[in-house]
Amino acid sequence: SAAAETFEFQSDVQQVLRLVIHSLYSNKTIFLRELISNASDACDKLRFEALKQPDLTGDQQELRIDLSWDKNARTLTVSDTGIGMTRAELIENLGTIARSGTRAYLDALEAGQKADAQLIGQFGVGFYSAFIVADRVAVTSRRAGSDEAWTWTSAGDGRYTLEPAEQATRGTTIVLHLKDGEDEFLDGWTLRSQVRTYSDHIGFPIRMPVEKDGAPTDEFEVVNQASALWTRPKNELSDADYQAFYKHVSHDFGDALAWTHNRVEGNQNFTSLLFVPAKAPFDFGGERDVRKGLKLYIKRVFIMDAAEQMLPNYLRFVRGVIDSDDLPLNVSRELLQNSRGVEKLKAALTRRVLDLLERIARDEPEKYLEFWKAFGATLKEGLAEDPANKDRLAKLLRVASTHANERDTLISLDDYIARMKPGQSAIWYLTADGWNAARNSPQLEALRGRGIEVLLLHERIDEWMIGYLDSYADKKLKHVAKGEFSADELGDAGSETATREAASKDAQPVVDKLKAALGDTVKDVRVSRRLTQSPSCLVLEEYDMALHMQRLLKAAGH
Ligand code: ADP
Ligand code: MG
Repeated sequence: SAAAETFEFQSDVQQVLRLVIHSLYSNKTIFLRELISNASDACDKLRFEALKQPDLTGDQQELRIDLSWDKNARTLTVSDTGIGMTRAELIENLGTIARSGTRAYLDALEAGQKADAQLIGQFGVGFYSAFIVADRVAVTSRRAGSDEAWTWTSAGDGRYTLEPAEQATRGTTIVLHLKDGEDEFLDGWTLRSQVRTYSDHIGFPIRMPVEKDGAPTDEFEVVNQASALWTRPKNELSDADYQAFYKHVSHDFGDALAWTHNRVEGNQNFTSLLFVPAKAPFDFGGERDVRKGLKLYIKRVFIMDAAEQMLPNYLRFVRGVIDSDDLPLNVSRELLQNSRGVEKLKAALTRRVLDLLERIARDEPEKYLEFWKAFGATLKEGLAEDPANKDRLAKLLRVASTHANERDTLISLDDYIARMKPGQSAIWYLTADGWNAARNSPQLEALRGRGIEVLLLHERIDEWMIGYLDSYADKKLKHVAKGEFSADELGDAGSETATREAASKDAQPVVDKLKAALGDTVKDVRVSRRLTQSPSCLVLEEYDMALHMQRLLKAAGH
């Protein structure tokens, strides 16, 4: 029309759009989930804003999502009575890269990653997925509290238009003009089964027209459960229900590894539903890693994403929902940061996650190793971050050791203790900057010769982590390259002492010569019980930094 203005997409959008369409074609029904998910978010936002501004809802109290289709016009329409968008918001939200994940996705592609569905799914493809099945998309929206409506239209070809529109009530209506061959989305039965399978957990009513003689009528009926999934009793929920909900909260394409769903009553009343993903998102832990994924609801009203306030950093892989009955509805981020109630909630949620992980480790060790592969390095941070749960976290630790002497055969500290030699009082470990360096270290000789197992800590975080773990189950953890070996810690019998003294005496002239020759370059030269094959090795004092740490710091200019 005459009043329509044309805009260019931000260049990144165009790129994302192309990728979404191509890489997701085989998963095309995702678009319906994404649009329903956005409509549900919009209803959540309205409910939240109406807490402060009750007149926002106006005469239209009901929050709902409607799905309808028109076979002749070949259109599919998704509308909601949510918050709506102003003209500026239409531009901002649908024409630019607003979401952090999109940029990260493009960076990943530039870095040569494969543009597969799995990868793109990790970012949540969102609104643009509409263009998988539609060659034109029209979004008409009226922001709550405003009396203007605007229509945003695009064929997904690099441009979009904006023009004023008529819309009697607040909310958003999205009309998809389906591409040739996408007729399955003009079929009530197909749509209904999609909604029931993937969007049943949406907490707002999703309605569809009642059909008569194979054609939609003007009468609508609710097709989903329309109650927040976490409020429903566990025994009414199937694994598939939980997995569908997981995908909604996490934007993950794949299934969750495990979850824990609890209602707590007492001092604090809350429901939590927490998921452990099966795989780490590809940029997990990177600089851009925003702490997202734990939604805070208060009495069924979505308040905000509050992962940072509700979970310790080392559990940042957890996704899910917490719904509190006690927090005030007008809670702010600042208040969350400083509230004692929240500290307690955080401790309770942490306990839940650790309970879940312990249960998997005990009952499904294979599955636990899968978890460990994805998030073990993250969990290790907990030893430093969460002293109160140190013992539980140490129990959950999995590391390589000289027992299997294989990089990927991991053991627990309890496994180690079960294999300790009679009389051995310490848990021995070695830190190194790589698997081969660890496995081939001469520092291992003495212990290997005595048949004592050594933990091989070869990951980047290990040296730092182990500094926070000085003992486990009343056993000291000792670095094989540090300080003196006492017979007690090695579990050696006293009988050896005499031989050792004799050997020391014999070696004294050599020791003196070496001392003179090496001068100030070493602190001391000693006869050692450390070695069985090599003639000598470098040793650190009890509180010295590990050799490879010293090298690292030197390389960094310290
Ligand atoms: P995401 O949902 O991850 O933010 P999307 O691509 O799905 O990303 O949506 C982009 C943005 O567009 C949303 O964050 C929201 O601000 C806006 N939006 C999309 N659909 C709607 C809707 N039905 N009502 C209001 N705003 C919407
Ligand atoms: Mg979305």
